[in-house]
Amino acid sequence: MLLDNLKADGTQSGGGVREERESSGLPVERRVYTNRSLKMDQIEWVGFDMDYTLAIYKQAEIDRLSIEATVKKLVDRGYPPELTEARYDEGFPLRGILIDKQEGNLLKMDRFKYVAKAFHGSRELSRDRRRELYHQRRIRVDSDRYHWVDTLYALPEAAVYAGAVDFFDARGDQLDYAQLFKDIRESIDEAHRDGAIVDVIEQNLPRFVAPDPELATTLHRLRSAGKKLFLLTNSRAGYSESMMTFLLGGAMAEYPTWRHYFDVVVVAAAKPKFFTDRRPFMEFRGKGEESTRASRFERLKIYEGGNLAEFERLIGASGDEVLYVGDHIYGDVLRAKKESAWRTVMIIQEMADELRAAAESREEHAEIDQIELRRARLMDELRARQARLKSIERDRDESDAQDEGAQDVYRAEKRAIETIRQTVREDEDRARAIERAVDERFHHGWGSLFKEGVEVSSFGDQVEEYACLYTMKVSNLGYYSPTHYYRSPRDYMPHERG
Ligand SMILES: [Mg+2]
Repeated sequence: MLLDNLKADGTQSGGGVREERESSGLPVERRVYTNRSLKMDQIEWVGFDMDYTLAIYKQAEIDRLSIEATVKKLVDRGYPPELTEARYDEGFPLRGILIDKQEGNLLKMDRFKYVAKAFHGSRELSRDRRRELYHQRRIRVDSDRYHWVDTLYALPEAAVYAGAVDFFDARGDQLDYAQLFKDIRESIDEAHRDGAIVDVIEQNLPRFVAPDPELATTLHRLRSAGKKLFLLTNSRAGYSESMMTFLLGGAMAEYPTWRHYFDVVVVAAAKPKFFTDRRPFMEFRGKGEESTRASRFERLKIYEGGNLAEFERLIGASGDEVLYVGDHIYGDVLRAKKESAWRTVMIIQEMADELRAAAESREEHAEIDQIELRRARLMDELRARQARLKSIERDRDESDAQDEGAQDVYRAEKRAIETIRQTVREDEDRARAIERAVDERFHHGWGSLFKEGVEVSSFGDQVEEYACLYTMKVSNLGYYSPTHYYRSPRDYMPHERG
């Protein structure tokens, strides 16, 4: 039961990171992780995005639907009908990958923008080709050549792109990969706009959405602690109404409808423009009826559009009194942070798989660490022996004598150096093989979402940079006291952590 697991640990002080981590006692997939410290008792308003935040989609189902709808639109645009028979692997793309539209490639980078993995369509590029394309000069990720896949919502277009590149390559067609990507983007947008995707979802919600049985109690608990709640979604009114009814309708007797959980409901918000533009709030009066300009918020009503400045004025709160929970690094988290001082929670659905794979890989990670340590030691030894060899060579050149003893030492050093080099090479091969096996456990082809090799991935880097907190699902917030002090490990310097 949710409430039994709660701990009144919000008042602890000076406990230290390890103590706090141990005291939480929660399974890892239920924990809330902290990048920047946050005191919940200073938060007055808690806002939620809807899609992929409150509403957790069954990823494979929704991906298949989106892929099918998109390919159909491509064929309508004049692409060959056989494209519908091509193979699209919805499990192939990973959030955080970058599409190279010019080359038909999909890339994964670490935080230094180093391209560590690269696929042409769904075929992995050779190391040489990857080096040639991406390591000769710095890649400009903001340029028109590249496209970020930064939401779960965008995974299907990457799957279609990879499948279509494979399809045309197999036919030996000359292809403008950038045009193909543009056509896919437009097709999927069109499929979303004309209802080819959302209408199907709305009519089959149980097939596409996995409701969280703890969502209602989590929201209730925040409300009971005096927080005001709002919904801020880009989805349209009708779809939001159906979805929220599915998620919360009839969940608790105290709340006759889903709207009763929220103090303000905003739909069709057009984030990220919501954070930068000046669109007015319109009161939604029902399907087919004209919306009217709103000058204040009333409970149980639905508002459309709007903007950040007016929102803060109307709720009478701003900046760090507001906590916003979303799944989209750019539209929800980054913009909220850059344009306002809103605090943010990022929902990362993939964390369950990620944490499981990490737990299963502990031994391998320890072995890689051992190999790294040994490598550092061997390289030190190698440099020392090379210096000795140099000095023997120097002595020999100076004296010109053929000292037998010196010759023996010289040969022994040479052999030792060769042995070390051999060991280092074997270790590197071994480490690479382990890394491959570990990657496979995380995600076929791409490895971990948050890491790339020993570095943080570019996606992980963005999460660290922009999300104050991150967690797998909204109801995890319910496992912490509404006055909890989320403390960042960064508050401690390495020497304090011990
Ligand atoms: Mg969303």
